[in-house]
Amino acid sequence: MRLFINILFSIILVLIRFLRLPQDRICQWFIQTNNQLVLANILPNLKSEHLLLLIPHCLQNYDCEFKITARVENCRRCGKCIIKDLIDLSEEHHVRLSVAPGGTLARAIIKKCQPGLIIAVGCERELEAGINDVYPFPVIGILNQKPEGPCKNTTLDIGRVKEVMELIRMKAVRSQSIR
Ligand code: SF4
Repeated sequence: MRLFINILFSIILVLIRFLRLPQDRICQWFIQTNNQLVLANILPNLKSEHLLLLIPHCLQNYDCEFKITARVENCRRCGKCIIKDLIDLSEEHHVRLSVAPGGTLARAIIKKCQPGLIIAVGCERELEAGINDVYPFPVIGILNQKPEGPCKNTTLDIGRVKEVMELIRMKAVRSQSIR
């Protein structure tokens, strides 16, 4: 199924480039389809400790002086950007949180952590490329919001991250009650 979607996506992408249509819509479709597939196949024994929340550096306030790329704990939680909320959420749910400024570092983090599931935040093309790049690791892609344009002071609907975590928790609870 996943292979079929990849082939279909590649064909559509060639067509879109040929017709000079915006690529973001097709990337959104790909991310959404991928998410549905991944969510439907989440293993019931997946725990929050197996999750990796991978976020881009552009979520950080552009003027913040604290370097969080290597250590997200360097954030002083002033609340000027969404990083504070993401740290709070990761601590509350015991989920690993990492900031990846690019694909190479993201791959290195994933290789080191070997997560059961990645919740990745990014823009359309970044997520599309990342999901394909780290396959077969399952990735749920959550689009960031760009009130000031791409790559600077981006943010996200943190409710989407909570929704995914809740779905995983519910699946684990259901599987335990069946046993
Ligand atoms: S919450 Fe404050 S300290 Fe933390 S990254 Fe954002 S601006 Fe910097």
